Amino acid sequence: MRPSVEPIVIVGSGAAGLSTAESLRSAGYQGELQIVGEEQGWPYDRPPLSKQILAGTWLPEKIALLPQRRIDALAAQFIFGVRATSLNTEQRVVLLSDGRRLPYQALVIATGVRPRELRHPDLGNVHVLRTLEHAQLLRASLLPSDQRLVVVGGGFLGLEVAASARKLGAQVTVVEPVPGDPLASRIGLVAAAKLVELHRASGVRVLTGVGVTALTGDAEAPSPYVESGGEPDRRQPVREVHLTDGTALPADVVLIAVGSDPCAEWLESSGLLIDDGVVCDEYCAAGPNVWAAGDVARWLHRGLDRHVRLEHRTNATEQGRHVAQNILGAKLPFQPVPFFWTDHFETKIQLAGTLPHAADAEIVEGDAASDSFIQTFSVDGALRGVLCWNSPRRMTAYRNALEDSLRNIAV
Ligand SMILES: Cc1cc2nc3c(=O)[nH]c(=O)nc-3n(C[C@H](O)[C@H](O)[C@H](O)COP(=O)(O)OP(=O)(O)OC[C@H]3O[C@@H](n4cnc5c(N)ncnc54)[C@H](O)[C@@H]3O)c2cc1C
Repeated sequence: MRPSVEPIVIVGSGAAGLSTAESLRSAGYQGELQIVGEEQGWPYDRPPLSKQILAGTWLPEKIALLPQRRIDALAAQFIFGVRATSLNTEQRVVLLSDGRRLPYQALVIATGVRPRELRHPDLGNVHVLRTLEHAQLLRASLLPSDQRLVVVGGGFLGLEVAASARKLGAQVTVVEPVPGDPLASRIGLVAAAKLVELHRASGVRVLTGVGVTALTGDAEAPSPYVESGGEPDRRQPVREVHLTDGTALPADVVLIAVGSDPCAEWLESSGLLIDDGVVCDEYCAAGPNVWAAGDVARWLHRGLDRHVRLEHRTNATEQGRHVAQNILGAKLPFQPVPFFWTDHFETKIQLAGTLPHAADAEIVEGDAASDSFIQTFSVDGALRGVLCWNSPRRMTAYRNALEDSLRNIAV
């Protein structure tokens, strides 16, 4: 084995990558640290993109992931605007799109996910949302008043954007192919029904059980019709969204929000196991000296006794911290209580734990007809999940209870 004098290399400069870096330093790692990120500029937080940034209530400066003093304290070499293109695990080298080769003593893969696209003609005003630039483009196209926005996909992202776009005065239609209330499998039947009611009462049209067959453009539109980044956009603007029931929805703006795929294609020839993410053991190790954290990682959660991949902001930070400890020799299995939140209009929904298919659901505080309530999900009397509807202060106690419950079923 070579002497471990090479840097620790982190690929991906989002929440998971930076959490790993900070935790390495706070645990005493004094060696070289290199952080590679394909986006230009300092890392920022993503949850506000579909909320405050889109609605225009926060400026981009407010969503920096770390203040400058904490960036400086990392004493890291940042390599931005460059992609990792392949990995050689035998030579322990990452290859970059600018031709550089980065040898490493330990590598952290924290490359997140990217939005899935639908097959459609290249039309203007058809958006996805993952980056700050995406959010700014979407916001710009929603600013002329009364824009008709069609959101394809009624998941968390699609519905959050629907809420923010309503605040901007857009006419919003959400199209979700799965019948029933969107998100029922993620937040339970009661909260899902209440959420769709909230959206409808706020003027969002929610169509379920109907898919999209095609997007068509407006050949008559004046060209160029919109300026993006100073460049005239000469594509035809989208004009209609065609549905499986034969309807054609008029649209000025479309958001495609049909899920995401892990950014793992650059690892194809690496010999690592890639299967809906980078497959890791319970320590988040994907191979010798290689670790993964955040949205891209699918690791063996011993408490849940299965591999999981979570696209949750809190998980990115916690897993980054954990990976740092394990790189430095701790050998701790990572078995957190899954946790996420989602915001719609003035409502905050948080869910901790899991929501097993056959769970017994019970409202334990408040009632579902009111503005705040708490619902638990149990299997054979054991607590598995908790949903807080506008009750953020109560969540901590329930998360602690879930941690105990998870410890009891941990193998
Ligand atoms: C609009 C939006 C709203 C959200 N809202 C919520 C919410 O309300 N609650 C919640 O719990 N979660 C939310 N999330 C999810 C949360 O933001 C993510 O779980 C979190 O950002 C994941 O962090 P990460 O570091 O794993 O990935 P990312 O933040 O995606 O960082 C990965 C970085 O790696 C870079 N990268 C990718 N491939 C390469 C490569 N080959 N070479 C170099 N760099 C590469 C990417 O460009 C990116 O900068 C939201 C996400 C989005 C997009």
